[in-house]
Amino acid sequence: MPFIQVYVEPLALSLNQMFTYHSKEKLERGIRVKVEFNHKEMVAIVMGECEKPTDFQAKEILEVLDEKPLLNDELFELAEYMSNTYVASKMSCFKTMLPPSLRVQSKTKPIIMEEWFEQGEGMSSLTPKAKELFEKLQPMLPMRSSLFRKQAKTHTKQLLEKGYIRSIKREKQEEIASDYEEDRPPILSEDQEKAIETIRNEENSTFLLHGVTGSGKTEVFLQLAKETIEQGKQVLFLVPEIGLTPLMIQRVKARFQQKIAIYHSQLSASEKYQQYQMVKNKEVQIVVGTRSACFMPFHDLGLILMDEEHDTSYKQDAMPKYHTRDIALFRSAYHHCKLVLASATPSLESYARAYKGLYTLVELKRRIAKSMPKIELVDLREGEVEGGLSKNLLDKIQDRLAKKEQTILLLNRRGYLPVMKCRKCEETILCPDCGIALSYHRSENTLVCHCCGNTYPNTNTCPKCGSHDFYQHGMGTEKLEGSIQTKFPEAKIVRMDADTTRKKNAHQKLLKAFEEEGDILIGTQMVAKGLDFPNVTLVGILQADAGLVRSDYRANETTYEMLEQASGRAGRADKEGEVLIQTFDRSHYVMESVLNHDYRKFFQTEMQYRHLGNYPPFTYMATLIFSHAELSQALFEARKVKDELKEQRVLGPIEISMRQKKKRVRLLLKDKSQEHLETTIWALAHRYKSNAVKLEINMHPLMLEE
Ligand code: ADP
Ligand code: ZN
Ligand code: ZN
Repeated sequence: MPFIQVYVEPLALSLNQMFTYHSKEKLERGIRVKVEFNHKEMVAIVMGECEKPTDFQAKEILEVLDEKPLLNDELFELAEYMSNTYVASKMSCFKTMLPPSLRVQSKTKPIIMEEWFEQGEGMSSLTPKAKELFEKLQPMLPMRSSLFRKQAKTHTKQLLEKGYIRSIKREKQEEIASDYEEDRPPILSEDQEKAIETIRNEENSTFLLHGVTGSGKTEVFLQLAKETIEQGKQVLFLVPEIGLTPLMIQRVKARFQQKIAIYHSQLSASEKYQQYQMVKNKEVQIVVGTRSACFMPFHDLGLILMDEEHDTSYKQDAMPKYHTRDIALFRSAYHHCKLVLASATPSLESYARAYKGLYTLVELKRRIAKSMPKIELVDLREGEVEGGLSKNLLDKIQDRLAKKEQTILLLNRRGYLPVMKCRKCEETILCPDCGIALSYHRSENTLVCHCCGNTYPNTNTCPKCGSHDFYQHGMGTEKLEGSIQTKFPEAKIVRMDADTTRKKNAHQKLLKAFEEEGDILIGTQMVAKGLDFPNVTLVGILQADAGLVRSDYRANETTYEMLEQASGRAGRADKEGEVLIQTFDRSHYVMESVLNHDYRKFFQTEMQYRHLGNYPPFTYMATLIFSHAELSQALFEARKVKDELKEQRVLGPIEISMRQKKKRVRLLLKDKSQEHLETTIWALAHRYKSNAVKLEINMHPLMLEE
């Protein structure tokens, strides 16, 4: 009669403690049970057996929910690591690691059954035709009934009736990726050969593959993956966000012509479950996916490939605020397999590690097909500028239209949010929850908050002075599209931004429309990444320094990244590419480094600034955000905590934007030692008492919330 220890929802950190229950049967770690907790029925997860408690009467568990554990040993260890590293509750870690329908309190039934035929013990004789069919199909059993039935209904019926095959119900599993025509590997360049050899032969387990866009990094991935698959092991391809996933899926499918699993945020719960089961049941060797794919239940992982490793979508915003790179490092250590991080613009952190020799740096110095595109800086303070476009850029767009070549125009979203202002008192219309300016969306005539996503009807009354006289300040992608269309009435324009890509598959549809018949693609940062269109010969960046004014310590890094990635979209095939960068500050070292495609120069200059300011990678950071309806309350708690942490470097408190009608203030901690920082924050999390003021912890934040 075992006693078991369990974790119970809710996810609050203070409840990161196990509770003891009594069970009639032995239960393995990782099985979900229903228990009574605080007079409520709750789902709990079994962690192991324990001694009979002496000081209280343990309650019976109410129900066992799973036959088999949801998580294997590795994933339990990983949850432990995540909880420690990100100061998150265990339950929140389990929850993050599982597909939605397996989560602790999930009520969805993900399992769709379908009919299959398996081998039976038929004895009596068959008609020759039925016998022939059976012999042909027998080696492939069990088989989906629809496939079997296609052959010949009457024969199948006979086989069923005489017991040669029998019908069973199995979980339906669908492959989401379509098939692509086989793509044969090219002959590798000398650089690629060398890169592969280094990764194959060096002792180190982590590699940073640094190569300009179009230098053949993906081809190196495919080659390494091939070798791993041939050894019978599994390969994980990580892709930053949904926009790039279809391209990677296509290349992997075309090359390997085998069943693969796909995992990303746009799958439904049941699709996610199916993909998850395919990996768990060892039916696939290849997984292509975004952030959450790093938790797939691999049994024999042979290689992890992380494309565009610098991308911020690899860090999760919600608790646990993990970084996919950390999880990849953990899993590569657990499986003793290699991890290759790749980027044209590595994160400063990874490059610094490679610089120190912790990772092995592998470089691809040249583009495969072409030289790098020609880059030109245009000073926005000089010459004619019309609606945000310099004369120079307008001429070049005209030229491409005449030559039937394509153009990509990139807007930095921050510089292009149209807000509504009152002409009389200059009041801006703000989001009531977040306190930041709402932006105007013409197509729906609404005001949208880009912080919380809430939508409000457009108003024509100033909340401050009552005037009805508004004007639009700033220019949105939508308005820009309108003004470019007016300038070039013949041009086919495709716009890609947060508004036009909300629907499932919208991304792919827009890209396809552009590829097939578009002249100009206008978009926010999302068009900077990964696109490979051979006919694009011009990239225009409308306001390159819009991001540099931010108070974020990573502003320079993200701007460099964006410019370098965007210029990588021009001239990818046999036609020469050209990039025009419009800027207010052409002597900035970010602009200069981009002009010469000189990552090393950027790295060295930026590292000096980080060193001076004591920022990562020289220190480890954490932010603490206190929120309450009253600013004074939040500030009071923040100051109290700051006093308690007096031995630590603490910056703040500063007030940041509101969320869900709550005022928020932020403390920023810096520490030379990651371990010391973790200990400090854990101690704080345990003793933090205030129920009224909510505390949110973000370890190693990438973006400092403003
Ligand atoms: P990256 O991932 O660095 O941007 P890719 O691997 O996508 O680079 O390569 C860029 C282009 O060059 C692709 O169209 C790819 O098919 C092609 N390519 C890559 N390696 C070779 C090679 N060795 N020979 C010919 N073409 C190649
Ligand atoms: Zn808002
Ligand atoms: Zn007003």
